[in-house]
Amino acid sequence: MTNAELIARDLAVLWHPCTQMKDHEWLPLVPIARGEGVWLYDCDGKRYLDAISSWWTNLFGHAHPRINAALKDQLDRLEHVILAGFSHEPIVALSEKLVARAPHGLARAFWCDNGSSAIEAALKMSFHYWLNVSGRPDKRRFVTLANSYHGETLGALAVGDVRLFKETYAPLIHDAITVPSPDAYLAAPGESAVDVARRAAAALEAVLATHSEDIAALIVEPLVQCAGGMRMHHPEYLRLARAACDRFGVHLIADEIAVGFGRTGTLFACEQAGITPDFLCLSKGLTGGYLPMSVVLTREDVYQAFYDDYETLKAFLHSHSYTGNALAARAALATLALFDDDEVLARNRRLATHMGRAAAPLREHPHVADVRQTGMILAIEMVRDKATREPYPWQERRGLAVYRHALMRGALLRPLGNVIYFMPPYVITEEQIDFMVEVAREGIEIATLDPAPFGDVPAAGRIGWMA
Ligand SMILES: *Cc1c(COP(=O)(O)O)cnc(C)c1O
Repeated sequence: MTNAELIARDLAVLWHPCTQMKDHEWLPLVPIARGEGVWLYDCDGKRYLDAISSWWTNLFGHAHPRINAALKDQLDRLEHVILAGFSHEPIVALSEKLVARAPHGLARAFWCDNGSSAIEAALKMSFHYWLNVSGRPDKRRFVTLANSYHGETLGALAVGDVRLFKETYAPLIHDAITVPSPDAYLAAPGESAVDVARRAAAALEAVLATHSEDIAALIVEPLVQCAGGMRMHHPEYLRLARAACDRFGVHLIADEIAVGFGRTGTLFACEQAGITPDFLCLSKGLTGGYLPMSVVLTREDVYQAFYDDYETLKAFLHSHSYTGNALAARAALATLALFDDDEVLARNRRLATHMGRAAAPLREHPHVADVRQTGMILAIEMVRDKATREPYPWQERRGLAVYRHALMRGALLRPLGNVIYFMPPYVITEEQIDFMVEVAREGIEIATLDPAPFGDVPAAGRIGWMA
């Protein structure tokens, strides 16, 4: 099977995620035959460095021998069993391990099967908790940060704030209260990241002070708003937000679906602020990028608020068919074991330092306004005007020029609008980091040419967007 053959078959039957399918009239689809470590190999044998960990899921590279072995072993024992009324060793062991490693005080694991569904479960649990403990159906609103992203299902979309994903569906979703983001990129002249964090926390505090009677929870992506363009904030915001939530009797939901499992330098991003959220949502890296799985970790007292005689109807009657899948649990256990054995976080600190050094010269580029980094996530913000930070109009799709250049050179970069970022698997080497940064640098040179460098692309094909 060649690339061309598989592409033709694909385009005849598939509808791809987050894609204007018409783009594929001129933008080649990349059919992957196999993966190994940081590399993906297409059907014609060309390889691509997976600089974005296949949508932030992969932690230790593709086809990792130890995760593969765990899955092969599990496959001959049990693939899946209903988790209501039944249990199995992998899900018990995984729950024990996560509770032991998560921020102190998180004691219970509720399993779901993708990131958005974990968010939905946390929102429902928070609302239901207030109903159970004090019969207060009025505590039903959610507070979200500007530019946040929490998934695509209607409830998750409602607490997100990325216009491109949300606007079309606005008539379908409940409205959330949006407070300013602590995003350090938004610092006024002379303001530091901590200053921005304090300013945003004061705005949050004002909202909670007046509306806390109606509010169930605040939802936050700790340290990095990923889908919103890898915007980063100071951990002080999380400390202040935790304190404000405590003061006004509002839950804090931490969405670490993207930033969990070492991406920010610590196993969980909340650790850098020394806080424990009331609900911690995890997915993506949980299974090392192998299988869909997610979890909501919560405190014992939240669990206890649902624990009563059946007729009280306090139970959390929520489920997904593949909840607690045994194969996914084994992949997750094997992934967590890799964190134990290989001093991953210490090695990542060295890799992150190297990545930061390699990318630093891009700060001087006339169309780069910001090069920011939190642990193993590094982002480069392309702008039309460096002095005013005026962005390139989204219609020009400058990031797409970087994407196309990278594919040609053998790397998978997938810019978010004008933001080029790296979120590589942890098995990447310093040489591979140098290659990745070099490809991005070349891509930025091309993407910032004027007029926007589409050349062969028909004008109609340029309208749309690429996440
Ligand atoms: C990806 C993501 C989600 C949604 O997870 P899915 O598995 O894609 O539904 C939610 N929150 C954050 C922060 C994410 O990055």
